Amino acid sequence: MGNILSVTTLYAFKYLPKSTIDAFVGLAAPPVASATSNLQSFYDKALTYLGAGTNAFTNSRILLIDRSGPRVLVAILTPSGPKLISAKKLLIAIQPKNSSLQEIGLDLTLEESSLTSQFNNSYYWDIVIKNSGIPSNISVTNLDVNAPLGIPTLPGVYGFAPAPLPGYTLAYYSSPAFKSDAQVKADTLAMVKKFVRVNGYPAGAPQIVGFNSHAPFWLTVPPAKIAEGFYAQLNGLQGKRNTFWTGATFVAHDSSAIWRWSEATLLPAVKASL
Ligand SMILES: Cc1cc2nc3c(=O)[nH]c(=O)nc-3n(C[C@H](O)[C@H](O)[C@H](O)COP(=O)(O)OP(=O)(O)OC[C@H]3O[C@@H](n4cnc5c(N)ncnc54)[C@H](O)[C@@H]3O)c2cc1C
Repeated sequence: MGNILSVTTLYAFKYLPKSTIDAFVGLAAPPVASATSNLQSFYDKALTYLGAGTNAFTNSRILLIDRSGPRVLVAILTPSGPKLISAKKLLIAIQPKNSSLQEIGLDLTLEESSLTSQFNNSYYWDIVIKNSGIPSNISVTNLDVNAPLGIPTLPGVYGFAPAPLPGYTLAYYSSPAFKSDAQVKADTLAMVKKFVRVNGYPAGAPQIVGFNSHAPFWLTVPPAKIAEGFYAQLNGLQGKRNTFWTGATFVAHDSSAIWRWSEATLLPAVKASL
């Protein structure tokens, strides 16, 4: 969340919904994970079901989206060449930062532009480290004993945890402002080495083997904008120009809630508009 103590309370509570708290304190079923720890398998199966390379395209780049006519036209560049998709409706599921929408060549309306250009965002990375030297039976939370509530100033590592595979450690890194991937990798490795050294563990040979940036993460607007009805205007975009929107910005940073809302609320609206 970036620096949590400077975050608008409303957003902090949206990030921690009742369903999550209930799961963590044992009032509801615990969070569900794949028995094989292979969450990717869900997505692989979905891709096969949809038809990889025929109805669903990965490793492709969107060049242009034209919604000026009765149908939505999307030009994409796939590994097997360019393609033009003609569709009745468009569902956008990337984070609706104005710069991200420009990157996919969306023909933004003035209304869309004026709303999406108001978003701020934070930055979030997940990292897998091999041979970190951190014992596999401990989880570490980054604390600053001199800071209010012990919350360390970011950018920095939230903490380290053992990965399900022996010999691997997970790290989560957050920043309220832009930081390059190279800076994040260097900072994380320096933190691992420092932690191992000061705790007297045998030195490892830390190597980053998995690394994902989730920027732009967690889109927010200032409280005054919320009070002025920003989200009513944002939700008002649904269906305009044959376009629908989903994702954390429209629901919460809660995967189950996003899936549930997309299926139960958004999909019927898309179907009704056909
Ligand atoms: C490290 C981490 C741990 C988390 N842990 C949990 C958890 O345990 N439980 C939970 O409920 N939530 C968790 N969350 C939050 C949850 O993952 C997010 O809230 C959720 O994934 C947001 O869904 P989304 O569909 O809005 O965006 P995303 O899941 O980020 O999906 C957006 C997709 O759009 C793609 N994309 C972006 N730009 C383009 C482009 N130009 N062209 C094509 N594709 C593009 C991205 O690659 C991405 O796949 C976690 C988030 C992070 C970062």
